[in-house]
Amino acid sequence: MSGATYDTNNIFAKILRGEIPCHKVYEDADTLAFMDVMPQSKGHLLVVPKAPSRNLLDADATALAKTIPVVQKLANAAKDAFDADGISIMQFNEPAAGQTVYHLHFHVVPRYEGAGLKPHTGEMEDHGVLADHAKLVIEALQG
Ligand code: 5GP
Repeated sequence: MSGATYDTNNIFAKILRGEIPCHKVYEDADTLAFMDVMPQSKGHLLVVPKAPSRNLLDADATALAKTIPVVQKLANAAKDAFDADGISIMQFNEPAAGQTVYHLHFHVVPRYEGAGLKPHTGEMEDHGVLADHAKLVIEALQG
């Protein structure tokens, strides 16, 4: 670990506390999932354990064990919802690795044959589009 600590005012902590809105797709006792506001591809969402940790490096193993099945569930739902050809799971630790929000999260990024990714933390998506995409994921989760 770099020595940096967990900041309780990071943006995902605020989302978890309900202080900032999000386009939620899934929630259980330990996990929240919502659409990324700057999607790198159509349907990009984030899975966030509720337990506070800066990233994977300082995460509690029990929290991790609860999170990965949710990542799998959301990966399958996103693949179905957007008729994606594949799913990239991405997770960054510390600035040198591309992390910009310091509460552990897993990116679930639908991939489409022949299409690249938009830049990481690029353009903000329209909220109407994010709301529509969230609805599609929720429907896919309901099977
Ligand atoms: P990181 O670089 O830390 O792995 O990824 C942080 C992600 O959070 C980025 O993909 C960025 O687009 C997304 N993000 C940043 N701020 C917000 C926000 O306020 N709401 C949501 N839903 N996503 C955010």
